[in-house]
Amino acid sequence: MSRSFDAIVIGTGQAGPSLAGRLTGAGMSVAVIERKLFGGTCVNTGCMPTKTLVASAYAAHLARRGADFGVLFDGPVRIDMKRVKQRADAISAKARAGVESWLRGMDGCTVIEGHARFTGPHEVAVDGERLGAPRIFINVGGRALVPDIPGIDGVGYLTNTSVLGLDTVPRHLVVIGGSYIGLEFAQMHRRFGAAVTVVEQAERLIAREDDDVSEAVREILETDEIAVRTGAEVSGLAPRGDDVAVSIETAGGRETIVGSHLLMAIGRRPNTDDLGLEAAGVEMDERGFISVDDGLATSVPGVWAIGDCNGRGAFTHTAYNDFEIVAANLLDGADRRVSDRIPAYALFIDPPLGRVGMTGAEARSSGRPLMVATRPMTRVGRAVEKDETKGFMKVVADADSKQILGAAILGTGGDEAIHGILDMMNARVPYPTLQWAVPIHPTVSELIPTVIGDLAPVD
Ligand SMILES: Cc1cc2nc3c(=O)[nH]c(=O)nc-3n(C[C@H](O)[C@H](O)[C@H](O)COP(=O)(O)OP(=O)(O)OC[C@H]3O[C@@H](n4cnc5c(N)ncnc54)[C@H](O)[C@@H]3O)c2cc1C
Repeated sequence: MSRSFDAIVIGTGQAGPSLAGRLTGAGMSVAVIERKLFGGTCVNTGCMPTKTLVASAYAAHLARRGADFGVLFDGPVRIDMKRVKQRADAISAKARAGVESWLRGMDGCTVIEGHARFTGPHEVAVDGERLGAPRIFINVGGRALVPDIPGIDGVGYLTNTSVLGLDTVPRHLVVIGGSYIGLEFAQMHRRFGAAVTVVEQAERLIAREDDDVSEAVREILETDEIAVRTGAEVSGLAPRGDDVAVSIETAGGRETIVGSHLLMAIGRRPNTDDLGLEAAGVEMDERGFISVDDGLATSVPGVWAIGDCNGRGAFTHTAYNDFEIVAANLLDGADRRVSDRIPAYALFIDPPLGRVGMTGAEARSSGRPLMVATRPMTRVGRAVEKDETKGFMKVVADADSKQILGAAILGTGGDEAIHGILDMMNARVPYPTLQWAVPIHPTVSELIPTVIGDLAPVD
């Protein structure tokens, strides 16, 4: 059996459904194929459930700190983990149902449930049925990367998906991987009441950030009494009764950490190994990410790769922007490019880290003459009033062009305030322009012009 469409979209993550909306709106017949959960990672096992859990963890933290604000409770703060989980499940379920009903109700859209596999450049098979189209959009996302550590097959471990199934607080959660996903889970579970140890192979946490940012994040986590081991190679895993023993080697010697639960958070891999890309001739890199050009076209004409599977972004907003680029180029005659995108993201620990553009180290290695300014959150009125003064802001600019190259806001509201700088960078205005702005008091954002006023040359 075979069917033909004007376009096929594989995957209903952050790019596919919106693209289906634009394509059907342009009069095309579109098949949308989903093998598992409508809405993909962000909705079901990524941003939405984790940020819901982060909100519960923050509520617990604030409740414990009540007395600091003159708010008194009669007993200790208790966590109802079933209720915490239900909240996250409910928010994901609502979003998932929303994506599914949107697609099913979309004129011109045929929803097909099953695993899609290429059988040729413009043909895929789903459960034995062949579907053809001159345009195919791959939006298959990724999944947790599980390392080949000695002993891994003999122990139980969690990934970002299965950890969401916990409805009791772990006694001791060992997190392998001290980057964005691992640290969010580490802090939330510590605040739910678990003992937590983070094991990171690199010499510092979130090693792609500047040293000062990594160090401040470590301090924040250690203040929460999270044990952090960096420069730590995991040499083996073994069952220890119902627990798991994680053997690590650091410069300080060997250590075995025994946890009740083990979370693997060392990175993500694209869902391209079971997609039959060879049959289509679609090229991948050595890590399995689909190779694309600046307009997200693959090596096969009429086939595009959008979202995490192309390795050009790893976020919901980058996947969505991929949709915008492809739709604008295809349907609006635009010439939008992924290389015009300014990198921006956040680490949603408390306080959060908002990041945009280059790190200080990247800016230095670009060879430009630099201006840098920093300001501790202890000198941000809003942070003082909220008694949340951990972290700092840092801005790096080009001394010649006066363009901002990058910034980090680690501190209360940092995930929101960073957009002031992101917007400036997108508008490509020189930084002195912002000094005439009149921001709202008292906010974290109001200090951005002040920090910019403090920019000073560095070697
Ligand atoms: C724990 C965690 C927290 C995160 N938090 C954030 C955050 O706070 N902010 C942020 O911006 N990003 C966050 N992310 C990243 C974000 O979730 C992803 O970048 C985003 O979901 C990528 O979307 P996508 O469209 O590329 O693919 P996905 O959302 O992964 O969707 C891909 C879809 O394709 C389907 N599929 C795969 N293969 C096939 C096939 N062969 N046939 C049919 N269907 C298939 C899958 O079932 C899935 O539904 C987080 C990720 C994780 C894991």
